[in-house]
Amino acid sequence: MTTILIKGARVLGGEPRDILVRDGLVAETGALAGTAADLTVEAGGLIALPGLVDLHTHLREPGREDAETVETGTQAAARGGYTAVHAMANTSPVADTAGVVEQVWRLGQEHGHCDVQPVGAVTSGLEGRQLAELGAMADSAARVRVFSDDGKCVSDAVLMRRALEYVKAFGGVVAQHAQEPRLTEGAQLNEGEVSGRLGLTGWPAVAEEAIIARDCLLAAHVGSRLHVCHVSTAGSVEIIRWAKSKGWDVTAEVTPHHLLLTDSCAERSPLGPYNPIYKVNPPLRTAEDVRVLREALADGTIDCVATDHAPHPVEDKETEWGAAAMGMIGLETALQVVQEAMVDTGLLDWAGVADRMSARPARIGRLPGHGHPVEAGAPANITLYDPSARLPVDPSGMASKSRNTPYEGMTLPGRVVATFLRGRPTVLEGKLV
Ligand SMILES: [Zn+2]
Repeated sequence: MTTILIKGARVLGGEPRDILVRDGLVAETGALAGTAADLTVEAGGLIALPGLVDLHTHLREPGREDAETVETGTQAAARGGYTAVHAMANTSPVADTAGVVEQVWRLGQEHGHCDVQPVGAVTSGLEGRQLAELGAMADSAARVRVFSDDGKCVSDAVLMRRALEYVKAFGGVVAQHAQEPRLTEGAQLNEGEVSGRLGLTGWPAVAEEAIIARDCLLAAHVGSRLHVCHVSTAGSVEIIRWAKSKGWDVTAEVTPHHLLLTDSCAERSPLGPYNPIYKVNPPLRTAEDVRVLREALADGTIDCVATDHAPHPVEDKETEWGAAAMGMIGLETALQVVQEAMVDTGLLDWAGVADRMSARPARIGRLPGHGHPVEAGAPANITLYDPSARLPVDPSGMASKSRNTPYEGMTLPGRVVATFLRGRPTVLEGKLV
């Protein structure tokens, strides 16, 4: 299949026009009725966005193929409108050598329903003791540019400084999971009224904010790039806003769940109290934090949405709160949650969504083939989305191997109808191709 005619799509929510895709590129846009094509897609009423890019996905392979594989995780990504994901390094073995990142990269080439860009670990084995082979991973076939110990914080200030210095040589970035370890020992839920009432060990906002403040200062000191993973508190936003006002090279992401859910879910939800489906790292915070995070994403203080898609098998989640694994899946619902939290509230238009979910994450993650506007000459990475759909979230219908979605039974707006990766459909009529 070499030519595709997408008819009547509203690019970034604008006036309907046709999009002709040829040999993996957008050939032409405009009124193209009557143009011959191998496949015609009726896109009346649908929004066309550049293919989404996720800076923060856990694909679990190698090591936890019972939770997710590169194949199922990228199927979930394609279903969610993504054309590229960054695969986090906390696999087993850890992606801390050229060999492991190349293995993940090759799995992506062979089984990926979207592009898979491996993230390299900052420290060997995520142990926080010595730097991993950053240069070798950067030089490998996987061309790693994002380094993260995600799941764990690089809490040692000297190691963090060295990592920031090291990645400058190849234009890399250190993506920090900001969690002061001593302040969060045994932590279960945001430290506040709800954790007090439920008797769950509190997870104070300051444990995140202290690390972010330190790392912004370190990045400025050595003149390097810092990316802050899953910002979850109002105070973190304030610190990032301050760092950006200084002109420092700091970027940040927020997850869909931190834009929609609060710690009160652990107390009151249709799924009952103490339901570990809401247990996540960093924890769900307060309604005021959610309000500030939404505003920060709207004004650009927070650069992008990243899913932190964290699949876990049923036995690791359906247990008591204290013993349950932290994390939730998110690839297949991210765009819907962003519509609910940001678009339907008037905070962001579709051009803004394209910027925060495609252009900026592609730029931060150094993916030159992604994040381009849907216009002639660009790679044909395109998502077609129906914002008028309203469906209850059904985990059993998801492509992910895991079912730990916190939105089960909730009605969310929107539906991804089609996804194209370099002109090849990966999803059509909402189904995997
Ligand atoms: Zn993390």
